[in-house]
Amino acid sequence: MRVLLAEHAGFCSGVKRALKLTLQEVDKGEKVFTLGPLVHNDEVTNFLHSKGVKIVEDLQKLDSGTVIIRAHGIPPRHLKILREKKRLKIVDATCPKVKSLQKIAHEFFKNGYDIIICGNKQHPEVQAVSGWTEGKAIVVDPEDYDTIKETLLGPKALLISQTTQREDRFSKMAKILKKKNPNLEVYHTICKATALRQASAVKLASTVELMLVVGDEKSSNTNKLTQVCREVVKTYQVTGAREILAKWLVGIKNVGVTAGASTPPWTIKEVMVKMENDNFEAKTEEVVSYQDVPEKDYRPGDIITGKVVLVEEDQVLVDFGYKTEAILPRAEVFLEGDTTLKDKFSLEDSVDLLILKINDQEDKIIVSQKRLERERRWNELEEAAETGQNMEGIVKEIVPAGIIIELGSSLEGFMPGSLVDVRYIPDFQQFLGQEFSFKIIELNRERDKIILSRKQMLEEEAEKQKQETLANLKEGEIIPGVVKRLTDFGAFVDVGGIDGLVHISEISWQRVGHPQDVLKVGEEIEVKVLEIIPERERISLSLRQAQPDPWTKVDEEYTVGEIISGKVTRIVNFGAFVELFPGVEGLVHISQMADFHVKHPSEIVQEGEVVETKILDINVDSKRISLSIKKARPAPRDLTTHSYSKENENQNVTLGDVFGDLFNNENSIGKSEEEE
Ligand code: SF4
Repeated sequence: MRVLLAEHAGFCSGVKRALKLTLQEVDKGEKVFTLGPLVHNDEVTNFLHSKGVKIVEDLQKLDSGTVIIRAHGIPPRHLKILREKKRLKIVDATCPKVKSLQKIAHEFFKNGYDIIICGNKQHPEVQAVSGWTEGKAIVVDPEDYDTIKETLLGPKALLISQTTQREDRFSKMAKILKKKNPNLEVYHTICKATALRQASAVKLASTVELMLVVGDEKSSNTNKLTQVCREVVKTYQVTGAREILAKWLVGIKNVGVTAGASTPPWTIKEVMVKMENDNFEAKTEEVVSYQDVPEKDYRPGDIITGKVVLVEEDQVLVDFGYKTEAILPRAEVFLEGDTTLKDKFSLEDSVDLLILKINDQEDKIIVSQKRLERERRWNELEEAAETGQNMEGIVKEIVPAGIIIELGSSLEGFMPGSLVDVRYIPDFQQFLGQEFSFKIIELNRERDKIILSRKQMLEEEAEKQKQETLANLKEGEIIPGVVKRLTDFGAFVDVGGIDGLVHISEISWQRVGHPQDVLKVGEEIEVKVLEIIPERERISLSLRQAQPDPWTKVDEEYTVGEIISGKVTRIVNFGAFVELFPGVEGLVHISQMADFHVKHPSEIVQEGEVVETKILDINVDSKRISLSIKKARPAPRDLTTHSYSKENENQNVTLGDVFGDLFNNENSIGKSEEEE
C-alpha cells in the first residue's frame, strides 16, 4: 500500500510561532499560562501540560506569572484587563495573520462600516475579531448567508472571513451578498496556510482511494479539510494513529494523508508509519523540534512580492506568504501631489517591495517600495548607459549651465547646455515641462551623478538615418526633400538625414540665373535622384527632372511654318533665343533676323523684347527649334518689280510708296546704323 502525504499539511507558521514563544517562556523557568488551549489539539495541549504549562479559561483568575495570548487572539477589552495586572507578563502569540484581520475589522468599523464575518460565532478567533468591532460585527455561517437581509447591509459594508474558512464557501457568500448590496466591499482574509492545505488535500484526494485527515475535532481548519476531502473521496478523520481501523484499509492500494494546521508533526508521523508498518513504535522525541521553523529566511535587502491586504492612512500591509504581513510605511512610497495611499493601492494589488528592517521580536518587517523603484531605475539607467539605449525624462528645471531632467523614482540627471542640441539654442525655457529623449554619457551611483546628452542622441539618429537613406535610395526615383542651403552653383536638399545637391542646371527647365530666383531655404520640394556615391556620401539630384519635360508638349502645340510670338531671353553672337513657353526656347539664327546683312543680333532685337517669328524647323529629340524673324514679316515689295511693272506704269508711284513701309518697320535698323 502506498501512503502519500499532502504537500501542505500540519503545523502552520502561526501555530509554530505560538508554540515557540510558549516554550521559550517555559525555558526561562516562568509560571506559564495560556488563555484557553494554545491550539485546538489535545496532543499539543498534553505536551505543553507535561512542560508545566497551565490552561486558564477565566482571565480574572490570573494574577502573576506569564500569560500567553494564543494564536486566535483576544478582544481588546480582555487585553485591557490583562494589562492592568501589573505582576503579569503578557506574551502575545496572536498569529500575525489574525492580527491583521483584527486590524482590518477595527479600521473599517471605525470608518462607519457594517462588518460581516463569514465564520463560526463560537470560534475564539471570530469572537476576538468581533471584539475589535465592539461586538457589533454580524457573524454569518457560510451556509446561512440567506439569513442576511438587505436591510442589514448599510451603504458601507465590509465582508471578511475567519482565517480558516473554506475558500469556495467564502467566494460563494461574497458573490451572493454582493448581489444584494453592490457597495459591499470584500476582503479575502482566509489564511494562505488554510487555503494551501485545502487545495493540496483536494489535489491528493483526487488521486487516491482513501483519505485520512489527522487532527482534533475541535480544530476548525481540520474539520474543513475533512469536508473538502469527503467531497472527492472516502475520508476518515482521526486524532492519531490509534484510531485507524484495519478494516478501512482492506483492498486499498493508495492512501492519502493530510493534517490540520494545529496537528503536530509527531502525530502525522505516527499515522504515516502506522499505515506503512503495523509494527510502528512512536518516536516522539525525534520529530519534535520547535526551533526548526521551516520559514523562508528573509534578510534586509531581499525583494519580496506580495498582495495588499490593508490600506491605512499611514501604511499598507502586504501579505507575502510569511508568518507576518510586511508593513509599507507612507514615507516609503512615491506619492505625487495630494495622492494618498488609498488612491495608489487597492486590495489584492500585487506589489514588489524591498525589505528594510526585520524585527523578529516584534514580528515586524518594514519594507519600501520607494527604494526598490529607485534601485530598479538605477539598474535601468546603468544598462542604458552600457548599451547606449535612448532614455526619456521630463525637463524639470532650467539652470544657468544647462537643464535638469526628471528621470523617475526621484532621480534627476543633468544635461549641460552644450549637449542639449546639435544647433546653438540661446534659451532653453521653451523646453520646460517637455519630454526629452537622450543618451546617458556618465553615471555614478555612489555620487548620485547622471550626465545626459540629447545632442549625442540627435547626432547618432541623424547618422543612422543618413546611412539608411543612402542604403535605400535608388537612382531615378522621385523623393521629397527640404531645401537646406543655396549657393551660386546649386541648392543642397535634405532627403532624409543627408543633403544632396541640385546643380543650378538641374533646378529648372528654364534658364536660372541664381538658385535663389527659384528656391527658398526650408521649402519642401520633390527631386529626382540622379546619382548616388555611397562611399563619398554624395547624392546628385534634379528638381527639373522631377517635373514634366516641357518639350513633350512642343509637337502638340506648334507646327513648322507657324508664326508665333515669344520673348527674347538671350542674345549671343550667332543669334537670339526666343522663349515659346517656359522651358522651351527656339533660336533665331543671325542669318534669319533680317533681309539684309546683320553684324550682331542686337542690331535687330533686345533681351526681353517680344518678337514675332516663324517656325522653320522643330526637332524635339535634340530639343531644337529654328525660328526666323525675317520670314515672319511681310516680304518687302520688290523695287524693280514695283518700278517697272506694267501694272504700275500709269500709277503715280513715289519713293515713299515703295520704301515707306520698309523705313517704318526698320526704323530701328536705320537708327543703329546712324549711331554706329
Ligand atoms: S491557520 Fe493561518 S491564521 Fe491560523 S494560526 Fe495558522 S497561520 Fe495563523
